[in-house]
Amino acid sequence: MQFKTSMTSHSQPRIAIVGAGPGGLLLARMLHRAGLTVTVFEREANANARPQGGTLDLHERGGLLALDEAGLLQAFARIARPEDQGNKLYNRYGDLLFDEQGAEDGGRPEVDRSALRQLLLDSIPAERVRWGQIVRGAEPAGDGCWRLLLGEGRGASEPFDLIVGADGAGSLLRPLLSTYPLQYSGLTLLEFGIDEVDDRHPDVAALVGRGKMMVQGDGRALIAQRNGNAHIRAYAVFRVPADWAWRRFDLHNPERVTAQLLEEFAGFAPSIQALLRASNGWYVPRPIHALPVGHRWTHRPGLTLIGDAAHLMSPFGGEGVNAALLDAAMLGRAVTQTVAAAGDWHAEVARAEAAMFERVIEAAASSADAAAEQLSHDGETLALEHLMQHQAERLQPMPIHA
Ligand SMILES: Cc1cc2nc3c(=O)[nH]c(=O)nc-3n(C[C@H](O)[C@H](O)[C@H](O)COP(=O)(O)OP(=O)(O)OC[C@H]3O[C@@H](n4cnc5c(N)ncnc54)[C@H](O)[C@@H]3O)c2cc1C
Repeated sequence: MQFKTSMTSHSQPRIAIVGAGPGGLLLARMLHRAGLTVTVFEREANANARPQGGTLDLHERGGLLALDEAGLLQAFARIARPEDQGNKLYNRYGDLLFDEQGAEDGGRPEVDRSALRQLLLDSIPAERVRWGQIVRGAEPAGDGCWRLLLGEGRGASEPFDLIVGADGAGSLLRPLLSTYPLQYSGLTLLEFGIDEVDDRHPDVAALVGRGKMMVQGDGRALIAQRNGNAHIRAYAVFRVPADWAWRRFDLHNPERVTAQLLEEFAGFAPSIQALLRASNGWYVPRPIHALPVGHRWTHRPGLTLIGDAAHLMSPFGGEGVNAALLDAAMLGRAVTQTVAAAGDWHAEVARAEAAMFERVIEAAASSADAAAEQLSHDGETLALEHLMQHQAERLQPMPIHA
């Protein structure tokens, strides 16, 4: 196929996506499905190089809409866990303040991140992803094109008409478009896991229930979520300086970390501390950063960002993956429709970018609010209010859209 490389090109563009996360892969699926050739550059050595993390809930107007746009909703139904949308809130004495179980119709089915990634990988030809490619940045390649700068002495890639940075929170393409540094939220999570919870820790399985449980007090919190395969992923939450976890915990000694966590949560009921005692010893500190609400940049032809690279938000709003998938679907739709109509797809990328800036403001603001409320004096009351509000919204009939 003959590709035209000039900025005024209306023929099929050569497109590179950096990052095989949810955003990058859904975009690759959209482009591939429309017959466009796309290359994904991913730093991980292969699809199984790293555990992909916990469970994500996809929303009707977010991730589910995006999967529908990409023709993947039916496939998603096979990996979704609608039964795990429950919520429990405890106080630190172990009293249950809120319990909503059996919310299969909650409209926010859970999915394991690794299952979602596999679904997206299966939806494009394997050769579209170049694994083990660490992208350091990009440079102009003449005639309006860009080439990727690759790490580990691999030089530079071939030229592309469009490069999409879907390379997550620490995006190395973001500095080409925006000078804003990430802001530390003041919150650090210490992530850990609990394996075979139903057989080995039935007390913890009952404590967490079918979904998520939270407890906060003494300026710290525990959040635990049921994943697939009887696994629980949990987070101890602290409001501390960004490097505190590395100084406080002896991360090379998992048994010691468990003991140190039990010290931190000494004021909590034994039924709650059971979460810590059941830990499998796999501890990962996660200082939580975000970009400013309303983050945007001046458009540069041939380059754009989606997902966390464009608008990293705190995970306390549960919006990040939904926003990333929707960005991918909207950008994919804009490019494929314009290329099919021999239109000016550069202009459509700029329009999709501007629409993304507006679309994510509400989610970014509510995620920032949710982070600010964590571990405040009113944290427990506010968490209870949010849960009751969500329950009331869920029980309200959905408006029917034509
Ligand atoms: C602890 C935690 C819990 C969360 N829980 C939720 C939740 O419940 N609900 C929710 O909606 N969101 C949640 N999020 C946020 C969610 O994970 C992100 O918003 C989402 O993964 C963003 O998708 P993405 O495709 O933009 O980026 P990512 O998922 O980060 O994917 C980026 C990809 O790019 C690759 N990459 C990075 N740098 C390079 C490079 N230089 N070269 C090549 N490849 C590179 C990475 O390896 C990765 O595969 C959570 C986040 C955290 C930290």
